[in-house]
Amino acid sequence: MIRVSHINIHKVLIFIVLMLSLGIWVYHTLYPLKDSKQISRTPIRSSNHSLLNSWQTNCPLSDGFDFPVGPPNAGSYYNAQGFGGRNHHLGDDWNGLGGGNSDMGDPVYAVANGIVVFARNIGSGWGNIVRILHNTGSKDKPVYVESFYAHLKDVFTRPGQRIRRGQKIATIGNAEGVYFAHLHFEMRHKINLPVGGGYGENTSGYLRPSQFIMTHRPQIRRVAKGFIRWIRRNGVRLRSKPNIKSRVLRRLKENSQVTVLSTGSFQRIGSMGVHFWYRVKVGKAKGWVYGYYLSNLQ
Ligand SMILES: [Zn+2]
Repeated sequence: MIRVSHINIHKVLIFIVLMLSLGIWVYHTLYPLKDSKQISRTPIRSSNHSLLNSWQTNCPLSDGFDFPVGPPNAGSYYNAQGFGGRNHHLGDDWNGLGGGNSDMGDPVYAVANGIVVFARNIGSGWGNIVRILHNTGSKDKPVYVESFYAHLKDVFTRPGQRIRRGQKIATIGNAEGVYFAHLHFEMRHKINLPVGGGYGENTSGYLRPSQFIMTHRPQIRRVAKGFIRWIRRNGVRLRSKPNIKSRVLRRLKENSQVTVLSTGSFQRIGSMGVHFWYRVKVGKAKGWVYGYYLSNLQ
């Protein structure tokens, strides 16, 4: 009698374990992770402080930014969900023009020179994430921003590695089947924030990625040359401040000798391109003129 009941207890235990597994499987089938809004918001720091300090010191200077897919201008890709919007998206979603999973395995490139501070699969709807630290200032006066690449299929880089703009760092993935393949791409001016949830009304510390890239192109010197040609053709007013209501210092004639000192103040991205207030020098006078450069963004 005792032996028989032992066998029965074993059978009952195995039955219970099987039913539990079945229950968990049914639950996950009925309630899958639908999008990254359901991703856990557990803070995952990219490093401890001393490590971050050493990465900051080893961070190479950036010489401008390109797009993370189809560089330099995101050719044959489109941004399916930009920053903000109704969903409060905290990044851009880059997809191949072919749609669906046609971009699966396509290369992902570093947007600028920098140093990798995080490269890990964190699961939970995110999959593989790479984070790169960039210095947009100088060695003495560093200004750090961070680029953030998610749902990656393969990762070809590791923390501490110095990276060049345009270097292949990973491939586009779908976070192991959670989405159609795409690159979720964020940029942050507050570095070493938690990974986050990909969506959120609080945008503190986050940048609009495409706007940041378009206003920090590496070919800014070429842009300035094109801009000077435009001034020479059209003539323009030299103003005391980067403001349309400020005092007109001088009316520049066509063919004035103009030097662009800096593209001082970004205004907006319009149908004609990226609009700036440029700080310029004409003869001995310095002032501000308004103009745009044509962005090649497709
Ligand atoms: Zn996204």
